[in-house]
Amino acid sequence: MTLLELSTVSVHYGRIQAVSDLSITVNEGEVVALIGANGAGKSTTMRAVSGIRPLSAGKITFAGEDISKLRADLRVVRGISQVPEGRGVFPGMTVAENLDMGAYARKDRRNLQPDLDRVYELFPRLRERRGQAGGTLSGGEQQMLAIGRALMAKPKLLLLDEPSMGLAPQFIAQIFRIITEINQQGTTVLLVEQNAQQALSRADRAYVLETGRITRSGPGPELLADDSIKEAYLGVA
Ligand code: ATP
Repeated sequence: MTLLELSTVSVHYGRIQAVSDLSITVNEGEVVALIGANGAGKSTTMRAVSGIRPLSAGKITFAGEDISKLRADLRVVRGISQVPEGRGVFPGMTVAENLDMGAYARKDRRNLQPDLDRVYELFPRLRERRGQAGGTLSGGEQQMLAIGRALMAKPKLLLLDEPSMGLAPQFIAQIFRIITEINQQGTTVLLVEQNAQQALSRADRAYVLETGRITRSGPGPELLADDSIKEAYLGVA
């Protein structure tokens, strides 16, 4: 079943067109990756889905509902949760308080303990540091916290913007393993990555963005094996 569909979406910043006529689908249960160079429009596409940037044309449907004009906070209620680029951890709040903030839009806030337990099982490091201020965590730990916070909203669709950015190699592998685990537990994932190698090897399907347009799409492993993709995005000829 199609969970998310972008149909001929365009997004502008003033007169700059960042995304042009973009159509993508994400089916329930999939991990879908959006790859592309700096400035290709990946983050802008994510912002359009989460509702932070308005569309200048086109349509977005989620679980059969047209959400093109729906407010960002109401999209969270519908089941779309974003881990923004740069993470956006609240530095002065503890780990536990940051996680609690992730559940703000939920109506069933009385019983958060099972969800908190699930986050702490995925990220034992966060349990150890639950009383520590978010701003004092390492980059990798902050990425874990940002993902954990997004999961506290119990999303149907998790949007991850550059989850590997700025992380040491051992953290990158770990974050991608956890993304796979989150997906296997039933959450659909749309992720944006510059680390095409990791993204394509983990994704069911992927789209390649170039200057605001989709130029290629297909199963992740198929794109990973493609010579022109290797040359352009994996740094091998
Ligand atoms: P990166 O990996 O570098 O973040 P990206 O693929 O996510 O790249 P976007 O951040 O979506 O790309 O940017 C797409 C285009 O929109 C770029 O040309 C960028 O300069 C422009 N852009 C992004 N944000 C703004 C903004 N707030 N105001 C004006 N132009 C913007």
